[in-house]
Amino acid sequence: MSLIASVDIGTLLGCQIVLTLAYAIVFCCMKIFYPYLRGAGSVAVAFVVATIGNILLLLSGSIPLFISIAVSHCLLLSAFVLFYTGVLHFFKSARAIRYAWALTVVASILTIYLNLSHNRTTALTYVIALSFFLVRGVIALEIFRQAADRIFLKIFACLMAAYAVFALNRVYFLLVLGHPPTAHQREILQTVSVLLSVSFAFLIGLSFLLMLCSDLLTLVKDESERDLLCGVLNRRGIEQKLDIELKRAGRIGQNLAVALIDIDHFKAINDHAGHAGGDTALRDVVSAISGRLRPHDLLGRFGGDEFLLILPHTSSSEAFTVSSRIEQSVRELSIPGEAIPLTISIGLTQATSGEIAGPLLARADKALYNAKNAGRNCCRVLLHETALKEDPQPIILPASQGDLLQR
Ligand code: GH3
Ligand code: MG
Repeated sequence: MSLIASVDIGTLLGCQIVLTLAYAIVFCCMKIFYPYLRGAGSVAVAFVVATIGNILLLLSGSIPLFISIAVSHCLLLSAFVLFYTGVLHFFKSARAIRYAWALTVVASILTIYLNLSHNRTTALTYVIALSFFLVRGVIALEIFRQAADRIFLKIFACLMAAYAVFALNRVYFLLVLGHPPTAHQREILQTVSVLLSVSFAFLIGLSFLLMLCSDLLTLVKDESERDLLCGVLNRRGIEQKLDIELKRAGRIGQNLAVALIDIDHFKAINDHAGHAGGDTALRDVVSAISGRLRPHDLLGRFGGDEFLLILPHTSSSEAFTVSSRIEQSVRELSIPGEAIPLTISIGLTQATSGEIAGPLLARADKALYNAKNAGRNCCRVLLHETALKEDPQPIILPASQGDLLQR
């Protein structure tokens, strides 16, 4: 206990100021460089406000008591609400923040009033303790609600709840023990309080930073797998999905069909309608195809005007039906101001048991080549590698009405 009491509060507050200022700069930079990161702005402002509040606390004795006590507590309380705002933004929570602000405003007015009127120190103690307890408690509850199975967030919420309860230490003395803490006890409580604040400022900043970083990594990963022009998966993304789907199909012994789709005479579209017209045609084709797919089907741009479609739990005959619908949907498109028809050729195949991506894609490519050779604007199915060698006529499956897939 005497060791705790001997820790210099001024030094601890100094550490806290440096820490909150450093976090304020870090979160400000994150907000500037990655404006789409949710919550970074509010948390940056929270740390700025906390820094000012702590500077005022450090200056107590040199500045009027009203500023060092009342104003600093209002600022520190606001910092918690701003942090809470950041947490809500981060989790896209629809929970209203206005109650936390209303609580802060009421607590601030009361703190200022009680501070300005004399002999109201007990009431002031209650107001400060209760307002910090409520705001910290609300943040702890919100993080608990969002934690789900994330153990890290649960631990963080527990620590925050403990921090909220600690805010009531003076109330414990007054209500349970029936007397205010002695000068020595006050010194110890103050030191523990500042020690906890430093630890929490460090923990809060670090955990929010980790949360933002994991969000950033997910965003970057998502961006690296998406085609900028068409909005569907790019080659890297669709190939990764194909590997995953092939493994799943092998594991549970289900069908998996893939289709390579190529826009016919796309170069001519570019030549006549310009590159921008070609880009629009690419996007239109993607939305026409996407509109005919089921939620679990996966579409990606394989390169240029070629797309790879993965159809999980689908036999080749079912896939042929889907392809017919896609072809029809694309035929209904047109290039604005140009009399160029938009059509696609499709090469379709089905994965054999335990097959890997390479041979499967090679077979789909051969099927597509067959469709091109057959005059384009059609679909060809190639089920086995040997089919092409033994029989120059590619397999064309009829669209069985019984196999029609629901959109
Ligand atoms: P085929 O009927 O045999 O498929 O012929 P094609 O003209 O469709 O295919 P080809 O491979 O000869 O030409 C594809 C063209 O697609 C060439 C390239 O300039 C164009 N292209 C590739 N990527 C883009 C893009 O992102 N936007 C636009 N506008 N054009 C692109
Ligand atoms: Mg083409």
